[in-house]
Amino acid sequence: MAEDFNAEQRRYLEGFASGISAVRLTGGLAAGGAASAPPAEPTGPDAIHIKAQDKTVKDGGKLCDQEKWKRAESPFEGHNRLIAEAATGKPPKPEDNFRWRYHGLFWVAPNQTSYMCRLRIPNGILHHWQFAGIADLADAHGGAYSHVTTRANLQVREIAPEHGQPFLDGLTDLGLTARGSGADNIRNVTGSPTAGIDAQELLDTRPLARAWHNWIINDRSLYGLPRKFNVAFDGGGVMPVLEETNDIGFQAIEVLEGASVAPGIWMRLVLGGISGHRDLARDTGVVLRPEDCNAVADAIIRVFIENGDRTNRAKSRMKYVLDAWGFDTYLAAVEEKLGRKLDRVDPAHVAPRKPTDRFSHVGVHAQVQPGLNWVGVVLPVGKMTTDQMRALAKISAECGDGQIRLTVWQNFIFSGVPDARVAEVEARVLALGLSVKAAGIRSGLVACTGARGCKFAASDTKGHAMIIADHVERTVTELDVPVNVHLTGCHHSCAQHYIGDIGLIGAKVVVSEEGDTVEGYDIVVGGGFAETPKIGTEIWKAVKAEDCPGRVEALLRAYLARRSGPDESFQA
Ligand code: SF4
Repeated sequence: MAEDFNAEQRRYLEGFASGISAVRLTGGLAAGGAASAPPAEPTGPDAIHIKAQDKTVKDGGKLCDQEKWKRAESPFEGHNRLIAEAATGKPPKPEDNFRWRYHGLFWVAPNQTSYMCRLRIPNGILHHWQFAGIADLADAHGGAYSHVTTRANLQVREIAPEHGQPFLDGLTDLGLTARGSGADNIRNVTGSPTAGIDAQELLDTRPLARAWHNWIINDRSLYGLPRKFNVAFDGGGVMPVLEETNDIGFQAIEVLEGASVAPGIWMRLVLGGISGHRDLARDTGVVLRPEDCNAVADAIIRVFIENGDRTNRAKSRMKYVLDAWGFDTYLAAVEEKLGRKLDRVDPAHVAPRKPTDRFSHVGVHAQVQPGLNWVGVVLPVGKMTTDQMRALAKISAECGDGQIRLTVWQNFIFSGVPDARVAEVEARVLALGLSVKAAGIRSGLVACTGARGCKFAASDTKGHAMIIADHVERTVTELDVPVNVHLTGCHHSCAQHYIGDIGLIGAKVVVSEEGDTVEGYDIVVGGGFAETPKIGTEIWKAVKAEDCPGRVEALLRAYLARRSGPDESFQA
């Protein structure tokens, strides 16, 4: 079908030239139409996308390949074909690799000749039996390990083609799904990992994250956006959720007396975060009742669907519509869709956010519930073996409340651990070769998949992260504060290098006149988030990977020598 597309598109464009819109009614292109027939209006769940594509073409734009693939065959109507072809054991064609991503499977050749599955875990929270069940599925269908991602999610790798759908079926049995976790869809919904157990939170994000998760996975018209899309909910608690790096961030705030809306807890709307493009989400001035978040997010996304760039993948995120229009115009379009004005509040009438603790995701912390604790476990670059996962699930069931809460820091916390069981949890975690200690570099080490499993990577981020951590632990023994070091393999910035104290982005380093290259990084410093959001500053370009441990050591030594005390951040 996709192979015929160019011919189809030619007919389609000829249709425009003669005043005929060759629109397929429920997705895809019709072959033509009678010259006297009025233009057909697309209907059905894909209509909003088809109209946007039509407008792009009519305005002289050339749809990018991904838009053509979406139009040639819906990933949902084509699912059974995808399953049948995968069952033969053959790798998918590029357009089918794209379609599989709507179902959560990513063919990651040439780095690995297999699928990776990225799940959806709203607010990052799993029951212990789901966590153990994922380990069993990884053993049965993939590699015997998983990674925690920077969207508080899990990825399982090394899934052979014929095992892809059985893996997805196994997720369904566990009450989970991977639907929409890749391609141009709304990604895993993040929320405060300490929701409901945090003494300083203003609002429990769990119901909001779950409601938005259910809203999007059940509405076909919210799949196939111009590009991927991220939404996060911050409850105002002690643990940052990095909502400022999302397209839409909802921040719980306390509105004070004298504001233009009733005092109380509201959600502030921030928009346009995409740290890889050096932008963090900015305050729109809009505040919402928590129960209105879904409807407003839905309207924001529909404006994006109608107006996002469908020709150039580098400019197709919502940020670029916001940049072109400005917030006022964008929000006016959202209000038109909603049929009402949004409330706005002067920041002077908002209570300051209580401070976050940058390392509350590691170690033992008292919950709001007396006598209970959360315990954050350090996972080196987010990796766990399946044996570790089952053992961790057992610890959660026996010593905690049975929940495992993933964080955007590529680790997880046990919740509901009574005071009397904390020492046992620490000992059992240690026996698994893991740690709960927030120290030095390892607890703030974040690395994307990198060259071991991602074709975009210029460098082996996870491998180099561990080498850097080993080096720093050996050489900078006086480091007495945790430091965030983020390694990302390419400009997609999955590890958000621009917000780390030290950030490294993969770069091929030319080492000979013939143009030979080796793996390396550009290095940025001074990024931040939460109370001190900041895009880091690039200080070195094209540093060979073998030289990076020494450069990180030098940066840490300079920080230790110049700071006024341990409370001074890397940024200052
Ligand atoms: Fe792959 Fe680039 Fe994302 Fe790293 S940042 S996982 S290299 S796409």
